[in-house]
Amino acid sequence: MDDDRAILWPYDDRGEVRDFFYARYGHPTVAEAEAALGELDGGTAVLFPSGTGAATALALSLLEPGDTIALAAGAYYGTSRLFSTLERWGLRYLEFDQTGPLPDGVQLLWLEAPSNPLLTMPDLAAAAAHPAPVVVDSTVATPLRLRPLDHGADYALHSVTKYLGGHDDVLLGAIVCRDPAAADALRTFRSVTGISPSAEQAWLLLRSLRTLEARLVRAETSAAVIAERLAGHPSVSVVRYPGFGALISFDVADADAVRRVETSLEVIVNATSLGSVTSLLEGRHRWEGDRIPSGLIRLSVGLEDPDVLWGDLARALDSA
Ligand code: PLP
Repeated sequence: MDDDRAILWPYDDRGEVRDFFYARYGHPTVAEAEAALGELDGGTAVLFPSGTGAATALALSLLEPGDTIALAAGAYYGTSRLFSTLERWGLRYLEFDQTGPLPDGVQLLWLEAPSNPLLTMPDLAAAAAHPAPVVVDSTVATPLRLRPLDHGADYALHSVTKYLGGHDDVLLGAIVCRDPAAADALRTFRSVTGISPSAEQAWLLLRSLRTLEARLVRAETSAAVIAERLAGHPSVSVVRYPGFGALISFDVADADAVRRVETSLEVIVNATSLGSVTSLLEGRHRWEGDRIPSGLIRLSVGLEDPDVLWGDLARALDSA
């Protein structure tokens, strides 16, 4: 039972429960990965089996039926789908423009920095002055480019699946808490509801953190070059790039042009997700419908040679 894959550990010689006894309550590898991520983001991290699982646990553990979440419009579309599903249990949500004034009378502010795929940035100082607790989904920024807790947020949320995992082999999420007591409350909620992460995934996160900076610097350098070149391409009308990180979105004429780009690529992979060592591109309208322009393409720049990436993209865009 002392195998790394164990999910239970014996009580001590006096028959007392030790730190780890049953993996739904805690696992040494999960605890190690949480410590590493917490240090990176300047708080206490709690892992969940996905970013969406982390969002579910945070919303349900913090709020009561009748409470309202103010969600940044244009944030990851799955988060609004989640909150709309939770309406059945009495949670309410409204969407607001996170680049403008913050709504009053809400019990939780949910921002995304930068938002995926519109890549807007919230005013974190204004959010910190708001009376409601503040969650910042900083998946796209990573803790290397933004530490929301340093700006007064109460919680940072990560889809670890993306840059932190980085290799398309991790499905994991995290909430990093400013207050260690809030992290304890989330851990208790996690154990009781069974939204517990697997040790294997936590181990993969530990592996991936070792290369996070090298991966991000490489992808970010390429993304800046590609964003600039995209702005000069005749098939592209709008380019969104926040000036850091490795995610870009841009618009071509319409959904048919998107499909021609998607199906003309040879190096960049036409798939969903972001934050991988492999460059990934997709038209987001298939998922998000009319909340975004029909010609919007999201490009997650990976670690390939930037000139090769641009050659592939420019050739595909010539067909748009
Ligand atoms: N937050 C952002 C910004 C995302 O892009 C995603 C997924 O795409 C999520 C949260 C949800 O994460 P997961 O797919 O790990 O549940």
